[in-house]
Amino acid sequence: MKITDVECHTLLVPDLRKDQTSSAQDDIVVFVHTDEGITGIGETDVNPWIAKACIEARSTHTMGLGLKEMLLGEDPREPERIWEKLYVGSAMNGRRGAVICAMGALDMALWDIKGKAAGKPCWQLLGDKAKPHIIPYASLQPSGHRFEEYRDSLVAWAMRAKELGFQAGKMEVTLSGPYNHSGLNEPDEKMTEVVAACRAAVGPDFVMMVDVQYTWSDVDIALRTLNDWKDFDIYFIETPLAIDDLAGYARLHDEAPMPVAAGEWQNTRFEFADLMDIGRVDVAQPDVGRVGGLTEAKRVCEMAAQRGRQIVPHCWKTGISIAATAHLAAVTPHCPYIEFMPTNLCDSQLRKDLVDDELQIIDGVIPLPEKSGLGIEVNMDALRAFEVHS
Ligand SMILES: [Mg+2]
Repeated sequence: MKITDVECHTLLVPDLRKDQTSSAQDDIVVFVHTDEGITGIGETDVNPWIAKACIEARSTHTMGLGLKEMLLGEDPREPERIWEKLYVGSAMNGRRGAVICAMGALDMALWDIKGKAAGKPCWQLLGDKAKPHIIPYASLQPSGHRFEEYRDSLVAWAMRAKELGFQAGKMEVTLSGPYNHSGLNEPDEKMTEVVAACRAAVGPDFVMMVDVQYTWSDVDIALRTLNDWKDFDIYFIETPLAIDDLAGYARLHDEAPMPVAAGEWQNTRFEFADLMDIGRVDVAQPDVGRVGGLTEAKRVCEMAAQRGRQIVPHCWKTGISIAATAHLAAVTPHCPYIEFMPTNLCDSQLRKDLVDDELQIIDGVIPLPEKSGLGIEVNMDALRAFEVHS
């Protein structure tokens, strides 16, 4: 089998708001075609035009080869070998950043082809032993431009997630800092008020994570507030500090009253090695597309197992990435949850419409995928409706 073409589609929601933080407003979807009529699907969470340029750029020298040019003519059923070829061939432009994100979309598509060619779901090719099912946590992003609106919208969504059967939910509590999108700028005590309101609303049996999206500029400032949260039974605190403050993360590992999670932006196992060994995070959160695809995500899972850390993957894209993440989680025993943005609790039309037959949640869990490959198809009418060419 040979790869004959790579197609990139750049998508945007029609009601794009550049002042919003959600990356579910854009997407790049890749189709990798073969001479045997099998097509693989992939996507990644990075600016779609940058990813497309990484894929389609011409080769100019031996360490600056184009990703698409390197794929043409290759046998797509060997994603691990191809990953090394792409990594080495693009090394002078890549190794980290957008090139790795773009490789992630391509690698996802190769695993889809490999599964479809073998007539097996990807998880059967990724590992030997699967869990009985995958547990999603609801990822909840509040709205509102006044503090009370913000707090109450998050409480309402947490209650709704519980009603929908979710066993766990992550509360985004970002009232200041680089990710703040509500126009609010509130003191840290107000964050405590939001977290307390959410815990009171969902009761003691609901697993609750909190994402503060890099809000604190310093570890001592972070600890002042986190120490006030020790009675709220927080499953993990996500990205409390700037991601390059690995010394700060290491101190939080020792001093914060809850486990620390990070990794949504990290590319490659090398950045996860730093995050786990220098930053000492307790929960590694690879995003399958951004880390470099299923090939690299699997390696990060193995590294986390060796270090006794948990994996809870990041996922803020469509049913394509959700499927890839579910296949990874199915064969990762130390992955208790995957991030899941419920269609009925999010604003992105792209998230809702792009994939018709996405994995379903039944009684709070995702049953093991049964269809071959990633097991999903893109709704081509939706893809054309969201496509923006320039
Ligand atoms: Mg996050």
